Amino acid sequence: MRIVVTGVPGVGKSTIMEGVAKEAKYRIVNFGDIMLEKARDIGVRNRDEIRKLPVERQRDLQRLAGEEIGRMDNVIVDTHMSIKTPAGFLPGLPEWVLRALRPSMLVLVEANPSSIVGRRRKDSTRYRDSDTEADIEMHQEMNRFFAASCATLTGATVVIIRNEEGKVNEAVEVLLGMIKNG
Ligand code: ATP
Ligand code: AMP
Ligand code: MG
Repeated sequence: MRIVVTGVPGVGKSTIMEGVAKEAKYRIVNFGDIMLEKARDIGVRNRDEIRKLPVERQRDLQRLAGEEIGRMDNVIVDTHMSIKTPAGFLPGLPEWVLRALRPSMLVLVEANPSSIVGRRRKDSTRYRDSDTEADIEMHQEMNRFFAASCATLTGATVVIIRNEEGKVNEAVEVLLGMIKNG
């Protein structure tokens, strides 16, 4: 099974992945880690610089990362349905990346925009964008549209998981249940 976990920055994907890693018999791969490895050659110093690169550069790194992950079996991929760039929403899973990844389940992790604003503010490990609640609401909405397109192209199921404030373990349990049924 090949599972793709997505959600707006700061919603809590990687935190949920830590919980899933303890239970699931899957390799968990962070798409951004692989893009960052490749981006270091062109002088990128941290993962939050990637989405500010020229979009063509982002697409190149994205394609290379997708091909690398596509060669791995039984993976859960921690990534994004869309990336908010200065040039607009970039699809995280364009057709050529989907073809490489061959997902069987697409997960959207969602939370209240106000919680996400708070999580970004408190997270000093990252250089986070200071979007308003309305910006985040729109990004989450856009991600549902992207997920529908990706599901139609691949036949993958779409799962929406809520990551409520202080309830990461509940989100982990719901995801593990979905994986078992998948
Ligand atoms: P990115 O896409 O930018 O990598 P992410 O979706 O992986 O973001 P995390 O880094 O997992 O987000 O989480 C962002 C912050 O929110 C972290 O500081 C994390 O501890 C916190 N967090 C995650 N889930 C919850 C939750 N349910 N309640 C409160 N805080 C949370
Ligand atoms: P993350 O830690 O998940 O935020 O990943 C770091 C960065 O990698 C993101 O902020 C994006 O710029 C980039 N990234 C991750 N996944 C994708 C993807 N599927 N397509 C394009 N860029 C991505
Ligand atoms: Mg993350």
